[in-house]
Amino acid sequence: MTIALRDTFVRDLPELAVRWQAEDAPNPTLLVLNETLAAELGLDAAWLRSPEGVRLLAGTAVPADATPVAQAYAGHQFGGFVPRLGDGRALLLGELVDAAGQTRDLHLKGSGRTPFARGGDGLAAVGPMMREFVISEAMHALGIPTTRSLSVVATGRPVYRETELPGAVLARVAASHLRVGSFEYASLVARQTKDIGVLRRLADYAIGRHHPACADASQPYRALLEAVIDVQADLVARWMLVGFIHGVMNTDNMTISGETIDYGPCAFMEAFDPQTVFSSIDHGGRYAYGNQPGIALWNLARFAEALLPLLDDDVDTAVSQAEQSLGRFRDRYQSRWNAGMRAKLGIADAPAEAADALSQELLVQMQNSGVDHTSFYRRLAEAARGDAEPVRGEFIDLAGFDAWLARWRGLGPDPAAMDAVNPVYIPRNHLVEEALAAATDGDLGPVESLLDAVRAPYVQRPGLERYEEPGRQEFSATFRTFCGT
Ligand code: AMP
Ligand code: MG
Repeated sequence: MTIALRDTFVRDLPELAVRWQAEDAPNPTLLVLNETLAAELGLDAAWLRSPEGVRLLAGTAVPADATPVAQAYAGHQFGGFVPRLGDGRALLLGELVDAAGQTRDLHLKGSGRTPFARGGDGLAAVGPMMREFVISEAMHALGIPTTRSLSVVATGRPVYRETELPGAVLARVAASHLRVGSFEYASLVARQTKDIGVLRRLADYAIGRHHPACADASQPYRALLEAVIDVQADLVARWMLVGFIHGVMNTDNMTISGETIDYGPCAFMEAFDPQTVFSSIDHGGRYAYGNQPGIALWNLARFAEALLPLLDDDVDTAVSQAEQSLGRFRDRYQSRWNAGMRAKLGIADAPAEAADALSQELLVQMQNSGVDHTSFYRRLAEAARGDAEPVRGEFIDLAGFDAWLARWRGLGPDPAAMDAVNPVYIPRNHLVEEALAAATDGDLGPVESLLDAVRAPYVQRPGLERYEEPGRQEFSATFRTFCGT
């Protein structure tokens, strides 16, 4: 089989690409293949499982006419600007047109050192690549825009972290890999060369690929800024509603498409608490659950700064336009969050003011009682059906919760509507860790079982009871996640 890989990114934006190839893999072995996604991409799963297919997924045998590249980008990491980050251990193999006619990137992670690798080894271990596979599948099943995972291939080469681990390459599929950091990089090049050509080409490319309606706007680049603000406000609201914590919301990890990208130290919150942080390096809690909307806006301000030269020749005019556009984030985010909470509570059609006040009060009570952000809403649906005891059992201040329940009942909640939007199964931290440890030891059974649960998150199934429950409190309280693994 031949795969037609396009190279529009390299052709349009050569300044942002370095031609490169993957490191050899001594013994590539396919660990997991996303057959549904393969079909969406028009790729033959049986061929992908063949030795030639596996070599493609490991990056060691790419089509003769493909042009794999490491992409250049900058980024604000934990608030500090790094002018040259780029794909240190990743490659864009090329672009595919999927069955629906959409152009999508085929990209590898863990494929060896590139000119952007700095001190890194360019490699990835089986566990973290499997983690991206499982969590991105869960996000997709939850209806949240995300990059997808096509496969994880074990390379047969060891990777050295705290211990020796089996190495792996993840094949990732994305609407594109354009990031806020790509624009920060292009803006820097534009300043250094005193030529905004590359920035304009990048913006035009982003419009063409993701936000084509902007091309017809009176100010296309301002329209692009606003389109990205909107998709990111929507995305982060979706994260917040399911309790997803990205963990490393640096500007190089924020897409122009509005897809979630880079599943490193991410994790799902269990007990509701806005200060929840899992990442081992996020000491200040910059990327805590409750800070995510504010950080998204901060990142979008960096995006707006990068676009300034395209907004207006006069700097003051450009800045005031950017500020005005950034102003839309707050309302957009808040309205998505409020509507989402009303849906979770089964009161989508209730008077907004009463419903929104109710959801705010609920969160305070949940935080005070450390209530699990996922199972709560399913138990609450049971209360709407007549059995309130399981959900009442979650609260310490029972009188307070009973008063809340009475007001909520007064709004006529619809339990079937609740169950349609509140997942039973999320990739809970203890289950993910257990599955990754087994995969690292060569047993893929637990990963497959977990995938099976999270790929149909809304339908409660007998036999999957242990996938419903939060981890033991001692586990959750000390659970830590890591970057660059
Ligand atoms: P992340 O925050 O995980 O998206 O990564 C930030 C930057 O570090 C990117 O430029 C990555 O390419 C780079 N990076 C992470 N891990 C490694 C590694 N093991 N080897 C080389 N570069 C890496
Ligand atoms: Mg990244």
